Order: sequence, then structure tokens, then C-alpha cells
Amino acid sequence: MKFSRSLRTTLAALTIVALVASVMNYRTVGAEELRSVTRFEFTAEKMGVPVRVLFYAPSESVAEEAAEAVWARFDELNATLSDWDPESEIIQACRATEASGERAPISADLRRALEESRKFCELTRGAFDPTVSPIVKLWRRSRYFHERPPEKILNEAKSKVGLDVWDLNEDGLRADPGVRFDVGGIAKGIALDEALRVLQARGVYSALVDASGDLRIGDPPPGREGWRVGVSSLDDRPAFYCELSNVGIATSGDANRYVEIEGVRYSHIIDPRICEPLTTRCVGTVLAPTGTTADALASALCVLGRDEAPEVFAQILRAEPALLDESRFDYLLLEKSGGVGESDDYVVTASPRFLKMYADARASGEASSAVRESE
Ligand code: ADP
Ligand code: MG
Repeated sequence: MKFSRSLRTTLAALTIVALVASVMNYRTVGAEELRSVTRFEFTAEKMGVPVRVLFYAPSESVAEEAAEAVWARFDELNATLSDWDPESEIIQACRATEASGERAPISADLRRALEESRKFCELTRGAFDPTVSPIVKLWRRSRYFHERPPEKILNEAKSKVGLDVWDLNEDGLRADPGVRFDVGGIAKGIALDEALRVLQARGVYSALVDASGDLRIGDPPPGREGWRVGVSSLDDRPAFYCELSNVGIATSGDANRYVEIEGVRYSHIIDPRICEPLTTRCVGTVLAPTGTTADALASALCVLGRDEAPEVFAQILRAEPALLDESRFDYLLLEKSGGVGESDDYVVTASPRFLKMYADARASGEASSAVRESE
């Protein structure tokens, strides 16, 4: 999970911008309804990033109580899932099973996060893998020292990555010695889904929760079709805008978090199958029925790249109707080939709907510069 403060600037570049019509913009809502719902916005730093909650509620007291409940849920999940906080349950559980050689009992929240992570590891054929933690940590150090991790240490770390180094049963978690989890690629999605659930439990349905570019969206604002959301490109301008409701949308990419060593640009995203960072500049956005699915698949999208993503996603669509359906699944991947200082061309790989929106935005001058569609 990202808890470093420097991340805020990084995320600014990647942020999916949610532009929301103000109450003044209502078109079809009657005066009575206008009086009964007011737009509220709350912000706080959670899970190491600025989080924004936008919703319509009947009164200030309802709104404040709902926002407090959302923050409390974020804090709870952070205490469970953080890989920066040595006291987090996810770190303590690994330590406990390592020390005792027995299974470590785990909370319902941790179980769900690990189960979801395992499921997405299987579905993405290992492109999303929560056990990349030892590799992620070695490369975080590399960003500081500007050198590749020593091969011997990398090889040792590689043996702690994969589906076979851990499992869960009703008694809890078993993991090989040295195995650590990094659920940073899915935790924000889980927290966003929970945040929306917390709001809905309080009767707040028209809502959007934005964890610095990963969004969970509920019902549209009153009288509107959806929330207007900008989909990230590789530069500051969104690739295009769309109106969304009842979906999750998440973006992964290496806009600023990378290290250059001898002319190679190493991303903060790791390909767990080879335990090496990505070296192609990319930004990947996934729209899915939930924040959890969108978040995990956005990380996987960057790893799978243009060669593998279309086929893997098509397979998930076929095999998992409960997870993804055609009407609420889209993706856009922009890749910049070549190393530092090479060509500025982007390669675009996208679902048909997102490809059309991207092309239309380009034609109207809304989208970013030089692009080249993939075949
Ligand atoms: P963010 O939205 O914070 O940019 P992502 O959702 O893209 O993050 O997740 C990136 C984080 O997930 C990395 O910083 C690292 O902690 C972890 N990670 C990196 N590569 C993978 C991977 N292939 N599978 C799962 N988690 C990963
Ligand atoms: Mg992710």
C-alpha cells in the first residue's frame, strides 16, 4: 500500500478527475427534491493519499456522520492491510506463522483481502500477485541508491513469490518463512467499496469516493446521468471524459514512481512472473463493477501489456460473469515504447467502447498528443 508522502505529487499526474455538477446545474429535478438533497464534500488523508468523498444527503448531520463512518472504515482497513505499518495485521500474521510454524488466525477483513488477491492472481495468470512484496521492497531501495538490487538477494527474494508459498483455510494463514504481502495494488479498491457500502447503509446513494484517482461511484447526482470522470493519459490532460454510475474505476502507472539506471526506466510495478519491474512507460485504467476488481485489474493491465491483456480480460469476461459483465467493463492502456529519450509515440490498447471514446476525444482535440493505435 502506498503510504509515502511523496506519493501525493505522483498521484496528481495520474489522477482521474471527477468533475461534479453543482446543485445549480440540475436540469430535471423538482424544487421539492432540490431542497431535500444537498451536495457535500469531505477530504482526509487516508492510506497515505488524499481521499475525497462527494455525496448528496438530506442534512448536514447525516452528511457528517456518514463521512466520519467512512473515515473510520478506512482507518480500520489501513490498520489491517498496511505494509508500511509494522503493527498492521497483515505483517503481524506473517510474522506469527513464521515464528510458530502454525497457522495464524486472521480477521474477516484480512481474509477477504487475501482471498480477493489470490483470486486475481489466478485470474490474471500471475500478473497481479500480492506476494511481490520482497521484490517491491528491494526496488524501493534501488530508487534511493540508483542501482539494481544485487542478483543474489533478488534470487533469494524470488523464491518468496507465487501462489504456492502461502494458503488459507478456516484455521488461518500459512506462509513460507520470509513471505510478505503487499496488497497495495488492491487495498484502495477494497476500501472504496467499503466506503460506498458505509454510505449506502446510511441512506446515501448518490456518491463518489475518490482515493487519488481510484474511484468508487454510486448512483448519479440527482437529476443527472452520472458523475463526469476524466480517464488518465500519460500527460496531465485526461484522455477523455465519461459519465459514470455504479462502477469502480482505477488507474495504475509509472508516471513518477520509477528509477532510471543506465538508461533503463524501472517502474514501481513489478512483473511477478519474472520478478522484474516494468520498463515500458504505461498508464492503465480499468472500469469494473467494483473498486476491488478495477484496482486489481488496473495493476494487472500494466503488467500484461498490449500483448496479453486483451486475451486475459476476454477470458475473465467469459469465465466470471459474477465479477465482470460487458456493460460494466472497459479498459484503456497507453504504453510508451522505448527507453529514456526514445520515441514519443504511444501505443493504445483498449476495450471497443473506450477506444471509441479515446478516438472521438482525439478527433475533437480533447485528448493528448501523439498516439498510435495498436493493431
Ligand atoms: P497506485 O494506485 O497506488 O499507483 P497500484 O494499484 O498501481 O497503485 O499498485 C501499485 C502497488 O502495488 C505497488 O506500489 C506495489 O506496492 C504493488 N505492486 C507492484 N506490482 C504489483 C503486481 N504485479 N501485483 C500486485 N501488486 C503489485
Ligand atoms: Mg491497482
